[in-house]
Amino acid sequence: MVRPETPAERRRKGPRFGGNFMTVLEVSRDLVCLCADGVVLDVNSAGIAMLGAERADQVVGRAFRDLVGGDYAGVIDDLLHLKEIEGSAFPIKILHLDGGAFEAELQIHPARELGSAHAVVTARDISRQGRLARTARYSEDRFQALVERSMHLVLLCHGGRIGYINGTGVGVLGGSDASQFVGMPVSEIFAGEYREIVAADLAALLEEGGVMPVRLARLDGVAFDAQIKATPLPSRGAAPEYMVEARDITAHIRAVAALRHMNDTLEQKVVARTRELAEERSRAVEARAFVESLLEAVPNPLWWKDTGGRYLGYNGAFRELHGIGSTDWIGRTMEGTVNPGFAAVSAEADLRSLSEAGRIQFEARLEVAADRALDVVVNKTAWRGREGRPEGVIGVMLDITERKRMEAELRRLATTDVLTGSFNRRHFMELAGAEVDRARRHGRPLVALMLDIDHFKRINDTHGHPVGDVAIKALADVCTQEIRHEDVLGRLGGEEFAIALTETDLDGALQVAERLRQAVAAIRIPAELGIVAFTVSIGVAERLETDTAIDAMLSRADMALYAAKRSGRNRVAVG
Ligand code: GH3
Ligand code: MG
Ligand code: MG
Repeated sequence: MVRPETPAERRRKGPRFGGNFMTVLEVSRDLVCLCADGVVLDVNSAGIAMLGAERADQVVGRAFRDLVGGDYAGVIDDLLHLKEIEGSAFPIKILHLDGGAFEAELQIHPARELGSAHAVVTARDISRQGRLARTARYSEDRFQALVERSMHLVLLCHGGRIGYINGTGVGVLGGSDASQFVGMPVSEIFAGEYREIVAADLAALLEEGGVMPVRLARLDGVAFDAQIKATPLPSRGAAPEYMVEARDITAHIRAVAALRHMNDTLEQKVVARTRELAEERSRAVEARAFVESLLEAVPNPLWWKDTGGRYLGYNGAFRELHGIGSTDWIGRTMEGTVNPGFAAVSAEADLRSLSEAGRIQFEARLEVAADRALDVVVNKTAWRGREGRPEGVIGVMLDITERKRMEAELRRLATTDVLTGSFNRRHFMELAGAEVDRARRHGRPLVALMLDIDHFKRINDTHGHPVGDVAIKALADVCTQEIRHEDVLGRLGGEEFAIALTETDLDGALQVAERLRQAVAAIRIPAELGIVAFTVSIGVAERLETDTAIDAMLSRADMALYAAKRSGRNRVAVG
């Protein structure tokens, strides 16, 4: 039995042409023409178009040699005469009828079955492929340049062996020339167990796909850490072709370790610092809370203002004093908040405390309500920033109203007589002495009166001591009524009083004394045993040029009083 030909066998033998083959070849997109002795007998439509003709008769009858150019043009006739047989396609230039040309791949098939020097010529336009090829070559050059300049090791391998290694690769692996590596099994560049794995199973390397950490070995055997990536390349043969890229990561690992170490210590420092900050913050919060409690605990009104005199804050005692809320006065000045009298003194103290070191103190009257004024003592201190620059003024207030009242009371007690409210002897002497000095300085008149109740013992004896006291008080009241405010009245002792009449000459004084005598005589004191009435004797002494103190005047008045008593009492006598 005859085995039918396989398509491959048929291709090897070449085509067999029958009579209608041109009709069949009309379907081809390549140029197909039948030549005899190098002359075109027929051409298909694709061929007419490729040659830039419009009709077959423009091509038929022409020597095929005239339609081509390029290296093979010289041998084309020999080939068409079948003197030489070229089994494979060869490049040639097809000339257009209009003068242009394009590259083609020409193949000449002997067609002896049609005639002795008959040949069928096919031409395929490869101008496009040619362009692609040029581009590819350019790309390949660029690719090689890129690979050669790569910072990484690049290997191209064929099967298990190295076909190409770039310059970086030679350096990384401790070689001096690419030839030391070309042909070497690729497993050789690996160290230790990696070498065994790759040698035993190359697929393991190729299938990994991504970047993997491995250990590589230099030519001198020293191993190092690397990252490697194997990329399969389109392969024509049975053996896999692939590219291996590798990067020495020893320095990287060292850097990472150093960085990690640095990070760890940095982290420890950050943790420590964070803790410190948190502690500082909580200490600051505690300190602030403490200061706030402290300020609130202070029973004295306390406030602080900026350098422009605006309230920044104040404590509970201050709020209570002024009857304000915690933010009512913040940002305001003393204008419209405190009485102008206080504001004036306080503003001056603020200025002084900002310019002087230490504490400024002043006393003032503070009106806290329409009907309520306080005597206060205020302490002012500037608080200063880092460079000693004043930031504002702190004020603390002490209410001294009660102290002032007690001081006044003490002063009154020390200077007045409890029974009558008139000045006591000591204070009278002081004030009257001052009047003597003043009268002397200005050359003004001054008169001293000395008064003593007549037979006072009898009142005491008859009505009792308390009634005697009432009589003494009544005398003082009458004196107070009868003299002017500028005159000075004092109880010198018992039922004896003295009066310094300022700006008064002797005549005037005598009139006053007489009026007093009559007024006393008119006093009526109701008592158990009946109405009490009494009289007074008065001694008068005017200031003499020789008088340097009140004593001299008083002793002359006393002598006049004594004279009045002696001459019958209830009368005025001049000393
Ligand atoms: P004369 O007319 O001479 O002044 O007679 P007199 O009785 O008033 O005598 P004298 O002035 O010497 O007497 C003062 C008396 O006043 C003596 C004393 O008992 C009395 N006496 C002194 N101080 C007080 C006092 O504070 N209250 C009372 N009730 N009597 C006093
Ligand atoms: Mg007396
Ligand atoms: Mg008397």
